[in-house]
Order: sequence, then structure tokens, then C-alpha cells
Amino acid sequence: MSNESGASSGTSGVRRRGTVVGVPKRCWCGKIVVARMSKSEANPYRRYYRAYAVERKLSNDNHSYKWVDEALADEIEILGMRTERLEQQNQIANLELEKLRFEKEILEKVGGVVGEAKSELKKLMVIVALGCLSIVVCSRLIG
Ligand SMILES: [Zn+2]
Repeated sequence: MSNESGASSGTSGVRRRGTVVGVPKRCWCGKIVVARMSKSEANPYRRYYRAYAVERKLSNDNHSYKWVDEALADEIEILGMRTERLEQQNQIANLELEKLRFEKEILEKVGGVVGEAKSELKKLMVIVALGCLSIVVCSRLIG
């Protein structure tokens, strides 16, 4: 914990090679990233993520580091976007469910109408059959 004083800028927490959204897990070199505390005058006690067991100054090497507060702010932003997306998907799902319910209702109504039409048709066919029968019977009686 001796050479951690190189961090001079308080605004640029992400290096080019180590650009990671949210909390970094590993450095580009493969080392696990750990949280450490800055001892620089510019950022005293500010915590940052850095490849484990890299002891060179932050400003002098390529090993990624990222301020913990910025990483956590990223995470919060990511969670916010995920939540928003989930809410949108939920809205779409609700709309589709409503559409399905509406279609089911229509199908039930149509089914009911078709059923009524069928029974009407049956009645009509019975009447027609009786009519035909009576015509036949009448023509035999007459003829
Ligand atoms: Zn590294």
C-alpha cells in the first residue's frame, strides 16, 4: 500500500484500456480487481478499483483503475435502465394479455352467435321437412 498516490485527476476515473461499465471484476491483464484507498492529495481517502498486486503508480501504468463511487454510480444507472426496460416489457406483456382477453371474448361471442344460427337452421330444416312431407301426403290424398 505504498505506491498508490499517482491518481491526480478526480474526474477521469476510467482508463482507456480498462474501460468497464459498472464495477470492474478483472483488469485487462487478467488480474482480479480489488478496491483500494487513494492517498493522493487530489483524492484523499477516495476508494478505487485496481488490479490486485500491481504496485506501480496509477498514472504510470496501463493497469485499469476506476473510482469506486463512479463505478457504483454506473451500476445504479445500469439498474435504472434495466428497470425501465423491464417496465416497458411488462407494459407490452400487459397489452398482449389484454389483446388475448379481447380476442377470447370475441371468439366466445362469435361462438354463441354461430350456435344460435345452427339451432335456427335446425328449426328451419324441420319446418321444411314437415312442409315437404305434408305436400307429399296431400298429393297422395288428392291423386
Ligand atoms: Zn492489469
